[in-house]
Formats: sequence, C-alpha cells, structure tokens
Amino acid sequence: MEKTIDQILQQDQFTKNDIVRLLKSEGKDEKALFAKSSEIKLKYVGNNVYFRGLVEFSNICKKDCLYCGIRASNSKVNRYDIADAEIVKAAKFAHEHRYGSFILQSGERADKQFIGRIENLLKEIKKISNNELGITISLGEQTKETYQRWFNAGAHRYLLRIESSNKELYNKIHPNNKEHSHETRLECLKFLQEIGYQTGTGVMIGLPFQTYDDLANDLLFMQKIDIDMVGMGPFIEHDQTPMYQYKDQLMSLKDRFRLSLKMISVLRIMMKDINIASSTALQAIDPLGREKAIRIGANVIMPNITPTTERANYLLYQNKPCIDEGADDCTNCMEARINMADGEIGYGEWGDSKHYKNKH
Ligand code: SAM
Ligand code: SF4
Repeated sequence: MEKTIDQILQQDQFTKNDIVRLLKSEGKDEKALFAKSSEIKLKYVGNNVYFRGLVEFSNICKKDCLYCGIRASNSKVNRYDIADAEIVKAAKFAHEHRYGSFILQSGERADKQFIGRIENLLKEIKKISNNELGITISLGEQTKETYQRWFNAGAHRYLLRIESSNKELYNKIHPNNKEHSHETRLECLKFLQEIGYQTGTGVMIGLPFQTYDDLANDLLFMQKIDIDMVGMGPFIEHDQTPMYQYKDQLMSLKDRFRLSLKMISVLRIMMKDINIASSTALQAIDPLGREKAIRIGANVIMPNITPTTERANYLLYQNKPCIDEGADDCTNCMEARINMADGEIGYGEWGDSKHYKNKH
C-alpha cells in the first residue's frame, strides 16, 4: 500500500519518490508538509532572518544563458558597471544599518582586470567595515586560482546555482558550446568547497522540460554534495530571451510559486541546519512571496541595495520587484515584512550557515 504523506514526513531520509509525493502534495497534505518544515526550521536554525545587502553591480556578461534577460546577446539591454566608490558606499550603508552581510553579484567576466578589481574591492570592504561585514560573492564560473584569490581577499561565501542537476536539461537551457558546460559548473562547486567557502547553490523551478523527478533529484543532489546554503526560486520568462518561445508550455506563475515553496519546505526537512534564501523571484509572483517562504523554511533575505539608477537594467526576468526603491525604503519594507512573518532580524550578525559550522 502507498505510504501516506504523514508517514513520509515521519522518516529521517527521503527517497526520490517520497520527494515527488511531497512536491505534488495538496490541501491538508501540503499543510502538514509546511507545518513540519516550520517546526524544523525553528528547532534547528531558530526564527532569526539574516539580511544580506545585495549589490548587482554590473549587468555585463560574457555568457548567453538562454533564460536570462542580461545574456550577452540581448542587444536591447543598457549595460552598466557601477564605479568601485559607489560599491564601497553601498557596503558602508549595509554596515551602518547593521546588515550582517553583503553580496556582490554581476554578470560573468573573467578577465585579468576584473579579477584584480574584485580582489581590491573585497579588501576595501573588509577594511571599511573593520571585518564586521560578512561577504558573499556570486560572480559565476572562475578558475580555482581566482576563487582562492578572492577567498584570501576576504570573501567567505559563494553562490553558484547549478540551475539544474540534470545535465540534459542544463544543456537544453544553455547554448551548446564550451562556455556553458555542466561539468565545469560542477567542478566549480567542488573548487569552492575545497577552498573552504561556505558554498551555496540552487536551481530554477518551473523550467520548460523540467519534471518532478528532476526537481526531486535537484534536492538529492544538494544533499549529496553537502551544500551549506541554497537560493532557489521560480523561473520567470523574459520576452527578450530564446526561452520565451516555450511560454505556452510553462505551468502558471502561481503554480511555479507554490512548487518553489514546497521545494524550500522539503529541503528544510532534508537539510535541517543549512541557510536557505527567500529569493526575490518569489516576490515577483506574489507580493508576500518572500514572507511565505520565511514561514515555511527560509532564513535569509537579500534586500537590494544597488543604486536605484541601475536597478531597472538588471532585469533577469520581467516584473522584477523593488526596482524603483532606494536602499532605505528597501530596509524599512523588509523589516515590516519579516515581522509579519513572525521572524526576527539577525542584525549585526554574519548569520553563517550552521551546517558549515557543524562540519568544520
Ligand atoms: N552570473 C552569475 C551566475 O550566473 O551564476 C550570477 C548572476 S545570475 C543573474 C544569478 C541567477 O539568476 C542565476 O544563477 C539564475 O538562476 C537566475 N536567473 C537568471 N535568469 C532567470 C530567470 N529568467 N528567472 C529566474 N531566475 C533567473
Ligand atoms: Fe550571465 Fe548569469 Fe545571466 Fe547566465 S545567468 S547570462 S551567466 S548573468
């Protein structure tokens, strides 16, 4: 006889089929799933929500991911690169407002000048914050040597989404060339872990061609590689990208949103003490999306503190929220939102992944 959802939720380990059942749960089963992940979250990571001030400092990218609005071939994008002094100013803002951490994110570049520039910026941010600001970077695929240089300069967490753990699906959503290789992405995650970064990955949820089995395998993949942090959220189509052609085959935005919540919830049960971010894409679909994710398992939120003048040019997908709010507005709005979700802001704390700490 088939197990009930309650029976699955009693288990210590989930099989792929268990995960698929949980991801498909509805009604009272879905409620039981969310109740379990909320309970586990409170028990293992508490109700603190950590802020990471996010600066999307450049939309210049050498890659051409078929889903992304700022891909190199999109000639309609106004390209920008925020001056270093402005980036440091944003880091000062994060520090003064007692955000525990700062995230530097951009399109992918790997030229010598870029690598040296990031190294100097990291040192500078460490200096101006008296080493009080945790630094996460999300700058795509690099050599092990580059990752090491940036680690030595002060970055201690790195986010590199695998996008999909299914190589075939990965190949369908990326151009077929050496620049976009699943093996390289996997190798990069390995380098990051070997160097000692708190390593984060994630996937897009609701991609064309993606199955429930794929998503279950994504969660098992995160468990298998023993990841410290995860940021995952719904795929949202952008009409200036090749993947827009599949828009009629996608599940509704509402369903992508619900499935993303269930992915977060199941992952919280599987990996109890990791950090899970409540992604901005959730809010693009539901104005209370990030709060809902916090209630059922996420414990990290990334207020956007990119200077407002450039926010509208970092459109990975359409209807991105908060593109016209200043950093102060963003902080006030986040505080209210987290209180609404019964969370407490972990002001001034790095909010390191407990999972990473327990391993080291
Ligand atoms: N360039 C770096 C990289 O790709 O790792 C970091 C920045 S990239 C914009 C950050 C993430 O945005 C990607 O890992 C991808 O999952 C997400 N993203 C891009 N296009 C998206 C879309 N249309 N919908 C949802 N997420 C998207
Ligand atoms: Fe560039 Fe990242 Fe977008 Fe790919 S997802 S095109 S690497 S910014």
